[in-house]
Amino acid sequence: MALKILNLRYDGTCVICTAPTPASTCAWWDSVRKEITCTRCRPIDFEPVPASAPQTLPPPQPVEVGVAGASAAATFERRAANHRRRNGLSNDEALPQHITSWDTGAGGEQQLGQFLDDAFTGTAVVLHDRKVVNGSKRGNIDHLIIASSGIWVVDAKKYCGVVDVRNEGVWKWKTSDLYVGKRKKSDLVDGMGWQSAAVQSLLEPMGMGEVPIYPVLCFVESDWSHRSNAAVVDGVLVLSPDKLHSVASQPGWVQPGSMNAIATQLSSGLPAAVPR
Ligand SMILES: [Zn+2]
Repeated sequence: MALKILNLRYDGTCVICTAPTPASTCAWWDSVRKEITCTRCRPIDFEPVPASAPQTLPPPQPVEVGVAGASAAATFERRAANHRRRNGLSNDEALPQHITSWDTGAGGEQQLGQFLDDAFTGTAVVLHDRKVVNGSKRGNIDHLIIASSGIWVVDAKKYCGVVDVRNEGVWKWKTSDLYVGKRKKSDLVDGMGWQSAAVQSLLEPMGMGEVPIYPVLCFVESDWSHRSNAAVVDGVLVLSPDKLHSVASQPGWVQPGSMNAIATQLSSGLPAAVPR
């Protein structure tokens, strides 16, 4: 078997969450793929889903998968119409950037939604554009991937420019900041904490509180300063679509039956903003 739990002889990083795995920590080593996985991403008592398990998932019931980008597109239409009416503009006059950005955002979600649907067909359940109501807080989760590796909470971003993570300071005072082009965009990761918390609060009552949850900012069209197309800022993974597919497809311990049960639970607890 290629997968072994051992005490690392060298410093490394986890292939899934990119957390550092210093020498002598206990972690999984895949001698074929030459990859390390930390014990948060793959618990010590991990048992991979057996090869004899069905390789394609039966469709979970009842699951409303939602429509990627639907609520951002509706917000764009509403604001564009209001703006045109108030300013007496015709349909082909240009709109200001704070309105067109909703259209760009919807396009990014549609693009990533299509990619995820294709990439995870038969291996994971993908839900789109979910409503989150958490006390007085309201918001949206762009995409949820329920995979054997865990739950991936994905925010789609469509920005031009190079994605870069700059580390400043030393040792424990070190901070990581996210830049897109010349602009500091670290505030993008701030919204991810309560999205993950909303997912966690639905998993716990099912006895699935141990399933790892990964918040992800996925840049659909940006260039990358890191060759790996991956970085981590305040516990949030910053990934390209291809990299997201490769890490979320890692072998995991969530069985197909549990994946379907989780999909059903998340689909009703975080309803589709717009049904398909
Ligand atoms: Zn990890």
